[in-house]
Amino acid sequence: MNSALYPTYARADISFARGEGAWLVAENGDRYLDFASGVAVLSLGHEHPHLVATLKAAAEQPWHVSNLFRIPQAERLARRLAEATFADIVFFTNSGAEAVEAAIKTARKYHAANGQPERYRLITFEGAFHGRTLATIAAGGNPKYLEGFGPPVEGFDQVPFADLDAVEKAITDETAGVLLEPIQGEGGLRVFPPAFLSDIRKLCDARGLLLVLDEVQCGVGRTGKFLACEHAGVAPDVVALAKGLGGGFPIGACLATREAAKGMTAGTHGSTFGGNPLATAVGSAVLDVVLEDGFMPRVARLGALLRQRLAELEDRYPAIIGEVRGEGLMFGLKMRVPNGDFAAAARAEGLLTVLAGDNVVRLLPPLIIDESDIAEAVRRLSAACARLAAPAAKLGAA
Ligand code: PLP
Repeated sequence: MNSALYPTYARADISFARGEGAWLVAENGDRYLDFASGVAVLSLGHEHPHLVATLKAAAEQPWHVSNLFRIPQAERLARRLAEATFADIVFFTNSGAEAVEAAIKTARKYHAANGQPERYRLITFEGAFHGRTLATIAAGGNPKYLEGFGPPVEGFDQVPFADLDAVEKAITDETAGVLLEPIQGEGGLRVFPPAFLSDIRKLCDARGLLLVLDEVQCGVGRTGKFLACEHAGVAPDVVALAKGLGGGFPIGACLATREAAKGMTAGTHGSTFGGNPLATAVGSAVLDVVLEDGFMPRVARLGALLRQRLAELEDRYPAIIGEVRGEGLMFGLKMRVPNGDFAAAARAEGLLTVLAGDNVVRLLPPLIIDESDIAEAVRRLSAACARLAAPAAKLGAA
């Protein structure tokens, strides 16, 4: 493929002409059930009528005014996010990495505002993924993403996954807080045990640290709660959101308590596009649906159904699927065959999935799927398993 784009992605050779709910139609007419959702972005599926109508209406009004002026759409979305969560105030960004950057800066500045600027370090966990900016690759600590980009940004101390002792030992006079994804997405759908999250909350309180959560992938209803940390009954100090918040329109948000964000005064941070009228109008439209009575309980119910079907598949194909992980409609299949082979087999059966670390294939369907979509996805996953279980027979038949 001779493309003028940076070759930084290993793209599948498919492009799509249209989307309808949980389905994507390729230019050649092939139909795919979309359990990738643009990597957990299309919370309401493709071309959701309420989002389309909202964006069309917003396009007839000023697209952009800058943060030099008031933006009523942003104020409304911030107020609604605060009402729905632990947060008091919100900073809008254009992406997840920027939301995490804002969260990191908020945590550092909190201690500076308290007269302790030396407390700037965050404790992070192995397997983390927080984005691709210089600070967020340092926070993630994956050597593959750091290689060749010069000295990593200082201030991150990584400990093994869900190891409370290691967290306690890593705390120094320079520690500002703990940063984690309640469910590690790219790292392989690893779920932090709820008891660990409440222990971390207690530890943060005891040591004057901020609990900073990256819910860029697992937030906004994906797990059947608005924030994944609600499953553990834990109230964080700062949370980064993005992906599902815009339903496909680029937007991120850093949510914080007023206390945690007390250092973020006028002039301390900014973004030209962040919180613009188009993005925040669409974000509010996503909330109209996700916060509707019954929407998130439905996600939880469908998630339980999908989990049960996936467990049956694991029983049927133990040489292919090693484990089912996840919560709500955020699943990972730990594979016993190379995850790329399985994703390719699923795609050949017309089902889109996403790869993750730890040899995992992620299933991240739009939150608007129904029972028939689950049945169809499981039928296609089962066909993919059958392909890989009998590769010789399949090759012979081809
Ligand atoms: N944090 C988490 C948990 C993510 O999953 C991602 C993206 O996959 C990011 C941060 C970065 O978001 P973005 O790609 O929008 O910058």
